[in-house]
Amino acid sequence: MSSRVDPDLLLELKDYGAVGAEICFNCGTCTAMCPLTSDEHPFPRNMIRLAQLGLKDQILESTDPWLCYYCGDCAGTCPREAEPGETMMALRRWLTAQYDRSGHSAKLYTSEKAVWNTILRLTLITVAAVIVFHLITGFDRIVTDRVELNTFAPVMLVWVIVLAHGAYLGYRILSGSARMFKLVMAPITAETKISLAIYLQEFKEFVIHFLSQKRWRACGEERGRWFKHLLLMSGYGTMLVLIMGFLWWFQTDELYPFYHPQRWLGYYATIVLIYGSIEILISRTKKREQVHRFSHPSDWLFPVFILVAAVTGILVHIFRYADWPWPTYIMYVIHIAAMVSMLDTEVGIGKWAHLFYRPLAMYLEAVKVRVRQEEAVSDLVPASTD
Ligand code: SF4
Ligand code: SF4
Repeated sequence: MSSRVDPDLLLELKDYGAVGAEICFNCGTCTAMCPLTSDEHPFPRNMIRLAQLGLKDQILESTDPWLCYYCGDCAGTCPREAEPGETMMALRRWLTAQYDRSGHSAKLYTSEKAVWNTILRLTLITVAAVIVFHLITGFDRIVTDRVELNTFAPVMLVWVIVLAHGAYLGYRILSGSARMFKLVMAPITAETKISLAIYLQEFKEFVIHFLSQKRWRACGEERGRWFKHLLLMSGYGTMLVLIMGFLWWFQTDELYPFYHPQRWLGYYATIVLIYGSIEILISRTKKREQVHRFSHPSDWLFPVFILVAAVTGILVHIFRYADWPWPTYIMYVIHIAAMVSMLDTEVGIGKWAHLFYRPLAMYLEAVKVRVRQEEAVSDLVPASTD
């Protein structure tokens, strides 16, 4: 196991939202209280100790920060009020930044200026792309006596750009996941060759945890937060499928009747996203739940983005309904800029990274357990006497 010491690690973690790790005296009460901890993963005490000692490499090799769902049970019992749950949260942000080789994630997590610059740059690129398109095709093509969104922004062209952007974001997720995989599995693969069959057989763990977040239900008393999170996920999951897979069906000039599934899927996603994001913002403002008592800037950015994307989306729909061409087109550009900014600052490198890294951590732990079980069985088989 590596033991490179970084004396500035605690200081660095403060930029990622850690609030009291330095005053922890390692009594272990938090670990005793945690409903998700185990003998192999005695977090959060072990993680706080490693952070205090600056043992960066050991944290990088660990999945423990991803095994915590931040129920907050540990915080109430800490005799030092060291906010162990916040340190776990800060470690997840820090790990996300470490998995991202481009350094973009670290900048966004530690500098508000970098966030605003990124949003401004992406907004300008979106607006410039729309202007260039109309310079090439001619501004006189824009229909202004009625709404014709697909003349203003042809759906197939938008879809191609969406797919290309999606491929870039997918690459970013995969590259971060590959780095996490390498860091977490390096200690075990250095000693043992793991068969492909084990990786394939245990992959179900990734799928189950990705879709259900079921481990969260064991975390703390409050099942409501698990359900709200699942609801929010269903909202942006629905939007993702509609936009990435069926944009040609979703962005139409024809207004379908009220009962049409195109409208209901859109309404469902919008209502869930608006409700979920407002609920998070209110809870963070009132600091009424442990998980929302401390807010890193990235914690505000995420629900604000969702709210802006959902509200601008519904405004496009309302203006279309009212048959107001220019308000529809302008709101559409604002909506696209908000979507692009949100996806570029969140997917794989921001708050949304946990959606992928958490189930990946469960999967890698399941693989390790299988390897240990198979080693234990082979140790029991008597050696040949030939
Ligand atoms: S965070 Fe608090 S409860 Fe946990 S080990 Fe440190 S002092 Fe003890
Ligand atoms: S926040 Fe909950 S899951 Fe996370 S370490 Fe504390 S008690 Fe455990």
